[in-house]
Amino acid sequence: MGARARPRPARGGAQVTRRSEARRALLAWYRAERRDLPWRGTRDPYAIWVSETMLQQTRVEAVIPYYERFLARFPDVGTLASADLDDVLSLWAGLGYYSRARNLKRAAEQLVTRFAGRLPDGVEMLRELPGVGRYTAGAIASIAFDHPAPIVDGNVARVLARLVGLREPIESSAVKARLWEEAERLADGPAPGDLNQALMELGARICIPRTPRCDLCPVSRFCDARAVGDAASLP
Ligand code: SF4
Repeated sequence: MGARARPRPARGGAQVTRRSEARRALLAWYRAERRDLPWRGTRDPYAIWVSETMLQQTRVEAVIPYYERFLARFPDVGTLASADLDDVLSLWAGLGYYSRARNLKRAAEQLVTRFAGRLPDGVEMLRELPGVGRYTAGAIASIAFDHPAPIVDGNVARVLARLVGLREPIESSAVKARLWEEAERLADGPAPGDLNQALMELGARICIPRTPRCDLCPVSRFCDARAVGDAASLP
């Protein structure tokens, strides 16, 4: 999968084979090791949308009780669309970044008007909704609808930068584009939702910022940064 010149067959068909093997390793690890989080047991696009929105800028542990209360009170798009905004905001109190709650409510109203209360399955239509960016659209499309849509957030960017050995600043638009391309190639196969969640999970638990736990990593044998020995300093 790597971008650096080293003595290994990493181009063309061989690169595709390495990516397929890495995919399989990620999926097997994720299915065996994933945390039992409340949104992991559903394919309901609405529930996945709510969870992904809450998880933006907020830790998993903090999100869990909010997610459960929100889904109990507003179990579907229609309930949220017809709710009083103050009720939505009071349920959100303490989670921060209140624009997320306002956008959820506005988007729910648009979904009722435009899509009979259902979330569309395509990334482009999802991105037309308030508060839904490329990452959230990709998460909904892949997890709920099995579309091979990529996702890149901070955790996934770190994993991919290390895997392919990207040593340029991660803020550069060329590197961002490269990360999305890599995520797109990885998502393109069976179970794209699980694959994307495996990348998130790996970034949250194993491929962590300063002290990556490479000995426990399911894709260590495919990882450029580990091979070179500079994983902790990337990206
Ligand atoms: Fe991250 Fe290490 Fe795994 Fe590479 S081997 S992806 S640096 S945890």
